[in-house]
Amino acid sequence: MKIKSLLNRFPFGSGIAVLFFSLALLPFSCVEEPVINNPVEEPPPYAALEKQTREENDWRAVFTWDQYIQLMTVLTDKKFLVLPLNEMRKTYDSTVVVVGLRHDIDFHPFKALEMADIEKRFFFRATYFVLATAEYYGTITNKAALRRPEMDYVYKELFSKGAEIGIHNDLLTLMIIYKCDPLIFTLDEISHYASLGIPVYGTAAHGSQIPRDLLVSNYEMFSDFAARDSVTYNGQKYPVGKISLKDCGLEYEAYHISFYHYYSDSGGKWNDTNGFDGVLDKLRSSKPGDRIQILAHPEWWGRKKS
Ligand SMILES: [Zn+2]
Repeated sequence: MKIKSLLNRFPFGSGIAVLFFSLALLPFSCVEEPVINNPVEEPPPYAALEKQTREENDWRAVFTWDQYIQLMTVLTDKKFLVLPLNEMRKTYDSTVVVVGLRHDIDFHPFKALEMADIEKRFFFRATYFVLATAEYYGTITNKAALRRPEMDYVYKELFSKGAEIGIHNDLLTLMIIYKCDPLIFTLDEISHYASLGIPVYGTAAHGSQIPRDLLVSNYEMFSDFAARDSVTYNGQKYPVGKISLKDCGLEYEAYHISFYHYYSDSGGKWNDTNGFDGVLDKLRSSKPGDRIQILAHPEWWGRKKS
């Protein structure tokens, strides 16, 4: 039977008949399922740097992330108020233990991202101090920082997780080894973070080789804390204490805000005779009115459990 005669015999006229046949054929012919691409996660712009940093620095870790979670869990007790340093320094409350959570990023900004993720799960925020003389930051060329552009994503990611970003001050090294002007260099750092939408309020002195050799802290580069007016290195005299925090637009130095107890994992060892457990015990026995600064360096954390 020809199609045309078949259509003619259809009781509702040929137009409706065509529609009927078309619908009947739908599942077998013309309907294509929309193609749903499984979202493939693009590697972050810093993937290559992260790989390199992990190859070079992951071995440093001495504490596990489980231990960091244990520390965070202790701080969930309702007697604690955990804050980034810029907020901690302005918060005085005798009904709680005020804790300033600080991280100096000496080697490993990608462990810092992991650390900030854990803190976020606990609704804690902390201050991460970024070190311009670190390998991850870039290089110092012609007395100025030549920054790794991919690190901007790391700073923005940290900031978006709720972190405060600060400057990990290594001005003695910058002045003596790289011949940088301390004020120009610091202002340039702050304006770089400002260009990323990140405000900077504070600085924390880094303990690098030059200050160690000189027995002078990097914070003495600021007139606010200088106990001398110069240092001599390899027979050459360099001025210190010539700029103030205010000159740089900074509001605080981490060692000089108000706290009564200081727990630090510097060198991968907690500054308590009983180590990490000792710090946890001290925190558990702290009393409202106490003010505590905790410094944890990201590179010491994330040891693989064996
Ligand atoms: Zn440091």
